[in-house]
Amino acid sequence: VLQATAQPDRWQQRISYQINADLNVTTNIVKGKQQMIYWNNSPDTLHRLFIHLYWNAFQPNSSMDVRSRELGKIEIGRNRQNQPVLDWDGRVRDRISKLTPEQIGYQKVSNLTVNGKAATLIEHETILEVVLATPLLPKSKSNIQLNFEAQVPIQIRRSGRDNAEGIRYSMSQWYPKLVEYDYQGWNANPYIAREFYGVWGDYDVKLTLDKTYLVAATGTLQNPLQTGFGYQPEGAKLTLPAGDKLTWHFTAQNVHDFVWAADPTYKLIKRTPKGGGPLIYVVYKAVDSLENRWQKMADTVALAYPYIAKTFGPYPHKNYSFIQGGDGGMEYPMATLIKNASIGTAIHEWMHSWYQMMLGTNESLFSWMDEGFTSYAESRTLGWLRNAPKESWLEDDYGVYYRLQRSGLEEPLSTHADHFNTNYAYSAGSYGKGAVFLAQLGYIIGEAQLDTVLLAYYNTWRFKHPNVNDFVRVAEKISGMELDWYKEYWVNSI
Ligand SMILES: [Zn+2]
Repeated sequence: VLQATAQPDRWQQRISYQINADLNVTTNIVKGKQQMIYWNNSPDTLHRLFIHLYWNAFQPNSSMDVRSRELGKIEIGRNRQNQPVLDWDGRVRDRISKLTPEQIGYQKVSNLTVNGKAATLIEHETILEVVLATPLLPKSKSNIQLNFEAQVPIQIRRSGRDNAEGIRYSMSQWYPKLVEYDYQGWNANPYIAREFYGVWGDYDVKLTLDKTYLVAATGTLQNPLQTGFGYQPEGAKLTLPAGDKLTWHFTAQNVHDFVWAADPTYKLIKRTPKGGGPLIYVVYKAVDSLENRWQKMADTVALAYPYIAKTFGPYPHKNYSFIQGGDGGMEYPMATLIKNASIGTAIHEWMHSWYQMMLGTNESLFSWMDEGFTSYAESRTLGWLRNAPKESWLEDDYGVYYRLQRSGLEEPLSTHADHFNTNYAYSAGSYGKGAVFLAQLGYIIGEAQLDTVLLAYYNTWRFKHPNVNDFVRVAEKISGMELDWYKEYWVNSI
């Protein structure tokens, strides 16, 4: 155990964002000024940088659009009415191809300087290439400044305005985000709908918009007495600023992304887990008929926390927000956007705070360590909440895997997330087979050993971007067994 918890010495880049953004709720345009202090902790001299411009995906004929329409030509089975089931994401389909200029998304960067010097910008749709006038030396610190202007797309996938539930703004992937550079080099994957990876760092974000909107976000609100809306301590006296707009100031430490959402009909409720834990915010569109569900969801996640902390390790931040928004459930640091008050979705997305926000595997390369481990943790937590017999907890995950096996569409888990032949093989593999990876490991090394492995993995690798080998090595050291064969059979082949 001592060996397994020795801290690895893998270098990591580091970043500190300062963003000032203004959202016009009539034109749906965001204008921002952004500073990034960037520590190149690598042994390499960097001649270029790359920046994600995710919202450029929401334009007709983008890679995301073309890919979705191609997947719409693949039949992956038949439904009960014997109609073909197509492989495209039902939320995306061919909707991007039909967007009007007012409905598309875009992100434009201007006035970019690195240490005061202008750089050459080359836009590759969702990736901005920045050719530096002066390279960044190993072990150096740089100051990157830029302005950006973005149009919030109509909600197609994850981000956008005016989603199906009528939430005005689901603001994920909304700012120019630096691409992660790690021991495998740059990870400048175009945005085609899938996975994320980012540089750990600190965020200091000021958001200014119409004062009738409640804002929920990653991080901790720094000026609750000026915003109100229930963020202030009970009974505190508010000093609301004059004017039509309000500035919300959030800070977050040791995270690799920042999400926010805003709506004038949002309501905020709070919970604190018994025995301690993060302050939990639940923010949802106030609709009387759904009120009880959101209250129940808030109670349930608070109830689950002690089990989660004991089994998977404690949550490290002050607060966490479940925010109604987006188009299903999507994880972000210290917050999630969820479509409705589903307890399963809420637990799943919160567990991503472990398997992605803390144990930030490169999701493009190891989507199953993110979605699979999260699904496993979700199933265990839900089983515990329901007081169900232990042997039944992973039943659904096994079911997903068995169906994948029988479908003939299975691909190795080691496939790059963007390069599976079908959406189906990606999701059944990453979620179902990924969860079964841990369940079967428990069978091999013993359940008690697996529990020790999960905590040792958390303690050894959180905030360090572990890969599959790092996880397997922890399991080998704890169990004393050689497990490379298991990785070969389960991950690298079908
Ligand atoms: Zn997930």
